[in-house]
Amino acid sequence: AAPVDEKDPQAVALGYVADAAKADKAKYKQFVAGSHCGNCALFQGKPTDATGNCPLFAGKQVNNKGWCSAWAKKA
Ligand code: SF4
Repeated sequence: AAPVDEKDPQAVALGYVADAAKADKAKYKQFVAGSHCGNCALFQGKPTDATGNCPLFAGKQVNNKGWCSAWAKKA
């Protein structure tokens, strides 16, 4: 599957970035240090996978190092 494009409307709406370091922390004050797709509850893949599926981006792949405002800590 293709990687999520940061300019994709859904990506823009959720503040998705392929590199969590580039997350808009001024806009998303809930940003948790160290959070990224790879340690998000919604990431469908192994923590070591470079990319994985996310139900919020059907048919696309998010970056393990990516981030979006729907991030939730993996239990
Ligand atoms: Fe990444 Fe989680 Fe956002 Fe999906 S919900 S894009 S896995 S941070």
